[in-house]
Amino acid sequence: MFIQSPSLSFEVFPPNPAVGNEKIMAVLKEMQDLAPHFISVTASNNKFNIEETTVRLADFIRNDLHIPTIAHLPAVYLTKEMVSDTLEALDRVGVHKVLALRGDIFPNMEPKKDFTYATDLIEYIKEQAPHFEIIGACYPEGHPDSPNQISDIQNLKKKVDAGCSSLLTQLFFDNESFYDFQDKCVLAGIEVPIYAGIMPILNRNQVLRLLRTCENIYLPRKFCSILDKYEHDPESLRAAGLAYAIDQIVDLVTQDVAGVHLYTMNNSDTAHRIYQATHTFFDK
Ligand code: FAD
Repeated sequence: MFIQSPSLSFEVFPPNPAVGNEKIMAVLKEMQDLAPHFISVTASNNKFNIEETTVRLADFIRNDLHIPTIAHLPAVYLTKEMVSDTLEALDRVGVHKVLALRGDIFPNMEPKKDFTYATDLIEYIKEQAPHFEIIGACYPEGHPDSPNQISDIQNLKKKVDAGCSSLLTQLFFDNESFYDFQDKCVLAGIEVPIYAGIMPILNRNQVLRLLRTCENIYLPRKFCSILDKYEHDPESLRAAGLAYAIDQIVDLVTQDVAGVHLYTMNNSDTAHRIYQATHTFFDK
């Protein structure tokens, strides 16, 4: 059982390169006051150049803000050479933590053949750049491609054995499913820290987008009631969404979660509000 104080960390996404980094850099500077354990930076797996987007932002977070950072790296549409180039680019800016991902497979886009699963990428990084720390993704309610949770957890065990030092979860709104998943991971011999991904709901569009993209996520009755009641009242929806996330976090820390990873949606106000309500629980 993990009994140290939990960590609080954030996820941000790089904007479309056509928009530029000015706004996200201002947002990140505002988040700096909250001294997160780390900030992870997502990566596009088919649209944008990872060096121009993810690596550039990770460089800023590490070297200008002096906050540890994790660069996401989805590999299904990359060759080994492209992965090596990205690792070298990360090396040059001193970022040595990677969230090794397969990435989603699009029906109209043929994957490259070098990395079928995240495990293949992890093995490749271990071989090419053993000084990198590797983190893996996990799915408390199962990955949508998996026939069942047992095979998903067996695959997760392979991923951890290949060299993950910790795991970041997909977002979830039902803590019970997270606890159940944690227990099953222990039974499967997965012993690395599992950081819980929490996304505060702030507006209706965000919810609609989520429902479209995250097929497997269970929405508890309490959560659906918020959506139904405040669908046309943005201010109340936002307040209730924040309260729901804070309630989830309080429950998680009392159950000795290893850490909470906040999907900030690049919104520093959200990060500040969650921090104000929960910071006494987290490792300073
Ligand atoms: P894998 O671990 O490879 O798993 C994919 C599926 O294959 C699962 O069903 C698994 O059970 C199965 N599987 C795994 N290994 C094996 C094996 N050896 N044999 C048979 N089956 C196997 N996507 C992005 O494009 N960019 C991001 O920045 C990004 N960030 C993310 C952050 C987090 C915290 C999470 C949870 C997901 C993120 N994703 C991101 C989404 C992720 O890329 C997709 O969910 C993708 O479909 C799966 O990636 P994975 O690394 O979990 O895949």
